[in-house]
Amino acid sequence: MSETRNVVIIGSGCAGHTAALYAARANLAPLVVEGHEPGGQLSLTTLVENFPGFPEGIMGPQLVENMRKQAERFGAEYRMAHLTSADLSKRPFLLHLGVHQIHTQSLIIASGASARWLGLPNEQKLIGHGVSSCATCDGFFFSGKEIVVVGGGDSAMEEATFLTRFATKVTLIHRRENFRASKIMLDRAKNNSKIHFLTDTVVEDVHDPAQHEVTALKLRNIKTGKVWDFPTSALFLGIGHEPNAKMFGGQLDTDADGYLKTHNYVHTRVHGVYACGDVQDRRYRQAITAAGSGCMAAIEVEKFLEEHGK
Ligand code: NAP
Repeated sequence: MSETRNVVIIGSGCAGHTAALYAARANLAPLVVEGHEPGGQLSLTTLVENFPGFPEGIMGPQLVENMRKQAERFGAEYRMAHLTSADLSKRPFLLHLGVHQIHTQSLIIASGASARWLGLPNEQKLIGHGVSSCATCDGFFFSGKEIVVVGGGDSAMEEATFLTRFATKVTLIHRRENFRASKIMLDRAKNNSKIHFLTDTVVEDVHDPAQHEVTALKLRNIKTGKVWDFPTSALFLGIGHEPNAKMFGGQLDTDADGYLKTHNYVHTRVHGVYACGDVQDRRYRQAITAAGSGCMAAIEVEKFLEEHGK
C-alpha cells in the first residue's frame, strides 16, 4: 500500500509537534510518524521548569500531550509507526515504514536522540531488570533500595535527585573529577544527603544476569587501577544521547557523532528535506530550542512547496 503526502514529519517530540502545528495551520495536512519513543525525551522527564509560559512548571508528558492536541486541532495526523529507510534521491521522496510506503513532496526530520548505553558485557541482558536509562519510568521499582547513577551532566544530576524519592541511597559514579552539569543542578545533588559521589571511577560490568536482576557492579578507579565489586540493586544511566539519523544511511551530511548537519538553521543538503530538534542540535538540546527549530522547518516546507508546487 502506498500514499502521497505534502509533508511527512518524522518524530513526535517537541520539534515534531511544533512542526506539525505550523504545517497544519498552513493547510498542509502533515502526517507525523511517531517513532519508537512517542513524545520524545520530554515524555520521560518529570517537572519542566524552563519552558516559558508555565510559571509553576509543567510535567514533561503533559507538555508534549498539549502540543500534540494543539497540532491535531488544526488537522495534523499522527501514525504509530517508525521510519525504517528512505530514498531521498528524487522527489517525491520515498519513505518505508516497515512494509508500508509513503511518497512525500517534503520531509521534516525531527527524530531526536535516544539514551546512550555504556556497552558493558551484561548491560543489554539486564535492561528492564535493574538497568535503566529512565529514572522517571523505573525509579519506583527500587523503593527502599540502593541505586547507582552513572554520568556527570545535568541528566545524571536530575536522575540522581529524582531517585532519592525512592532509594535509601544513590551513588553517583562519574569517570572524571569535574562535572559538566550546571552549577545549580550539581549543587542540588551535592546538598542532597542521600546522594554520594564516586569520581574517577568507571563501571566495567554489571552482575548478575543468571539471577535476572542487578546485584552489583564491577568498578575500576581510573587513577589507582583498583577494581572492586560494588553491591547495588539498580544501574541508571545518565550519559547523554545518540542522534536518531541512521535510517538515512549516508544520504544526508552528519558530523562525527551522527548528528545531522544543517545550514541556514534547518536545511539539509537535499532540497525539500529539513531537520530540527535534537537530531541536528548537539549544542542547546532544550525543549524550547527544539520547538523553535520545528517551527522554522515547517515555515521552510511551506515556502518550498509554494515554490515547487504542492
Ligand atoms: P551531557 O551533558 O553530554 O553529559 C553526559 C555525561 O555522561 C558526561 O558527564 C560524560 O562524561 C558522561 N559520559 C558520556 N559517555 C560516558 C561513558 N561511556 N562512560 C561514562 N560516562 C560517560 O548529557 P546530558 O547530561 O544528557 O545533558 C544533555 C543536555 O541536556 C545538556 O545541555 C543539559 O544541560 C540538558 N539537560 C538539562 C536538564 C535540565 O535543565 N533540567 C536536564 C537534563 C539535561 P564527561 O563529562 O567525562 O564527558
